[in-house]
Amino acid sequence: MKPDFLNSSAPLVAVVGGGPAGLLAAQHLAEAGYRVRVFEQKATVGRKFLVAGHGGFNLTNGENAAAFAGRYGAASPLFEQLLTHFSPASLRQWAAALGIGTFVGTSGRIFPDAHHTPADLLRAWLRRLGELGVVINTRHRWLGFAGATGLRVLNEVSGEEFTLEPAATVLALGGASWPQTGSDGRWPALLAAIGVRCQPWQPANCGAEVAWSAFFQEKVGRAPLKNIALSCGSHTVRGELMLTAYGLEGTPVYALTPLVRAALAAGEPATLLLNLKPDLPPTDLAQRLARRRPGTSLAAFLANGLHLPAPVPTLLRELAAPGADLATSLTELPIPVAGLRPLAEAISAAGGVPLAEVDEHLMLRQRPGTFVAGEMLDWEAPTGGYLLQGCFSTGAWAATGVRQWLAAQ
Ligand SMILES: Cc1cc2nc3c(=O)[nH]c(=O)nc-3n(C[C@H](O)[C@H](O)[C@H](O)COP(=O)(O)OP(=O)(O)OC[C@H]3O[C@@H](n4cnc5c(N)ncnc54)[C@H](O)[C@@H]3O)c2cc1C
Repeated sequence: MKPDFLNSSAPLVAVVGGGPAGLLAAQHLAEAGYRVRVFEQKATVGRKFLVAGHGGFNLTNGENAAAFAGRYGAASPLFEQLLTHFSPASLRQWAAALGIGTFVGTSGRIFPDAHHTPADLLRAWLRRLGELGVVINTRHRWLGFAGATGLRVLNEVSGEEFTLEPAATVLALGGASWPQTGSDGRWPALLAAIGVRCQPWQPANCGAEVAWSAFFQEKVGRAPLKNIALSCGSHTVRGELMLTAYGLEGTPVYALTPLVRAALAAGEPATLLLNLKPDLPPTDLAQRLARRRPGTSLAAFLANGLHLPAPVPTLLRELAAPGADLATSLTELPIPVAGLRPLAEAISAAGGVPLAEVDEHLMLRQRPGTFVAGEMLDWEAPTGGYLLQGCFSTGAWAATGVRQWLAAQ
């Protein structure tokens, strides 16, 4: 049975984009008594949410509040406020209310419990939205604005185009990575039509390209390097790196993307420094190196004396600076980055709607009554649950903005 208010004269709010930001805004608005209609261009909602589930699926992170907000770079002051309104704890309570428990992993990342998959979470969420009377129109593409309040929408099944006149709109169209999930990054042209200038898309949280020799590519191919530290400038990140035929993947390189991107954009050398033994104090390393017996091959010594995996000798041969001693090569191996992997492969995107284009409630300054949430806003954060938390928190905050704005009308 549909809730009574669906037949009521409650104002209609349109949500465009069926990712986590849009669906959370829809839920909060429906719970506040508004009629809500979601338009999603794909045949199903939450595709990137499910893609996130193929990897580790970090829903959020257990880091303390001040450090958490700091992860959003230049957008940290805004996120300090947003994360108070809809915090990591709110996100866990929200999941629990849908019947999905969560746990904090050793790294601080927060995951759904072992009994539930991301698909279970999405199914439970869609059931809840249905109970609230949220109408989800899939295969409906937003084409742009019409007049002061209207939205042009194309029903891609029937080919019919229509104009909707909602009381307010939340745009949550996502970024520009993994376009096959629907976040194709094509919408900035629709905002440009009303004078909103978006920042160009750039890959964030992505792999780096290294011009390995043909020998290296053939010999190493794809191999992990565990428990390493990777630095760019004064920033150092611990974790696991994956050597690939084209370069590097893994959390440490993703976290350093903004610095690498800036260096490449400035035409400066983008060099990463790899420490293969970050837990070994320099004096201990020196002692171990001194124990190498004459005649022991480097590969055998590194494997047995330092427990370093097979690709390390080849890596040293490929990258060690001429004349550098072994201790320096093991702890400060320079990796010249030739470029970043393409946007379509990146976990997230930098660029989109500048924060200066929205007010403190995420309402477009150029178009009162239209709010923006999720990755379409120009913020970036590392992997580890910060991306989804950012999308949920902006979705919740945009819903609050809609309520306040409609109440004032
Ligand atoms: C491989 C991978 C792994 C990830 N893992 C994690 C993780 O473990 N933890 C984490 O925090 N984050 C992770 N993320 C990031 C996270 O999935 C995204 O940040 C999040 O999904 C963005 O949410 P959103 O609602 O802003 O946009 P999206 O989820 O991208 O949704 C936007 C929606 O808008 C729709 N849309 C676009 N244009 C139109 C239009 N014109 N009309 C109608 N609909 C339109 C799209 O089809 C899409 O469904 C991962 C991402 C990837 C790619």
